[in-house]
Amino acid sequence: MDIKLNNHFLEVKETYLFSDIAKRVKQFHENNPEREIIRMGIGDVTLPLPASITAAMEDAVKEMSDKASFHGYPPEYGYDFLRNAVSDHYKELGVNVSPETVYVSDGAKSDLGNFPDILGDNPVIIPDPVYPVYVDSNIMNGRKISFVNGSKENDFLPAPPADTNIEPSVIYICSPNNPTGAVYSYEGLTAWVEFALNTGSLIIFDAAYEAFISEDKPHTIYEIKGAENCAVEISSFSKFAGFTGMRCGWTIVPDTLEAGGIKLSKFWARRQATKFNGVSYITQKGAAASLSGKGLEDCRSNIAYYKRNASALAEVFSSKGIYYTGGINSPYIWLKCPDNMGGWDFFDHILNKFGIVGTPGEGFGANGSGYFRLTAFGSYENTLKACEYFKTL
Ligand code: PLP
Repeated sequence: MDIKLNNHFLEVKETYLFSDIAKRVKQFHENNPEREIIRMGIGDVTLPLPASITAAMEDAVKEMSDKASFHGYPPEYGYDFLRNAVSDHYKELGVNVSPETVYVSDGAKSDLGNFPDILGDNPVIIPDPVYPVYVDSNIMNGRKISFVNGSKENDFLPAPPADTNIEPSVIYICSPNNPTGAVYSYEGLTAWVEFALNTGSLIIFDAAYEAFISEDKPHTIYEIKGAENCAVEISSFSKFAGFTGMRCGWTIVPDTLEAGGIKLSKFWARRQATKFNGVSYITQKGAAASLSGKGLEDCRSNIAYYKRNASALAEVFSSKGIYYTGGINSPYIWLKCPDNMGGWDFFDHILNKFGIVGTPGEGFGANGSGYFRLTAFGSYENTLKACEYFKTL
């Protein structure tokens, strides 16, 4: 063929992270078929959906089988019942988000990847280390990226650049963060909102792990004054309600967000209506069930289960004097590999010694080098076994 391709795809770094991990684990298993493997590498939930939520979906299935209550294409921005439920969720968090500004999607990853569709050629600011989707989706669009450095010195919560004399930029913030589990304080997030307002920039705030926050930290960027004039928020039912396999999330595009006299919501609504055909009625019914009553209670109890795992791990690393972030308001523990080991050396070490699989920090950006991510999404029993092993490090 002689067509032109989007060659920016060639600039996206090939990542062999999870395939490398899988290869090494397979090799270990072949060499040691009798040894147990404790998987703490992948950020996927493991508890099944609560019965209160599957019951709501079963009711929806029954409706779909009856001519009188059958649903065809869903409304492109989500059913009102779910947009209202998300709006009520924000009310619980103490902020006013009107249902018309809620855009239901098939998950946060899609929205994070798609949002640049409506943005022009702006510079992009991304913390390092971070969830790789922000970087890769902007490279695919040919955007110029600069990084703000997470490190031990700032507890992996980088502050905005000191220089506000910059071109208006698109800024990604993930709090609680994947992979570091670090969460911005009110002051920390306020600094970013002020930076965005002072520089005419847009923040894309990823709140996928909001439900894990138990300390007094912002759950949503709209708790910060002025954020409605500089931030969209993208969130998900994946980690909160166990919807990684169901697929549902949302994006808030406040009506107050404008650039060049055009409302961002106008472009986002147009983009979604053109390229996206909505989330199934059944999924949206399940998602709505997770936001109130028994469904909410059950989701919170699943989160508490994962948080207990995270606390157990955090306690061990605290007692060993190993530096880490996360573990309190997050399902992730991000630790400094002992003895200045690199992430891959530590990976091999704990796989061979303990049969534990984690993720080398190198997979999340240059500043992840020498760090390691463990997830609390496994079983309590396995987490306790891992804790006993880590005590002997
Ligand atoms: N945002 C962050 C920070 C994540 O870690 C993940 C998934 O791991 C996502 C978004 C994706 O969420 P979803 O399952 O809703 O696409």
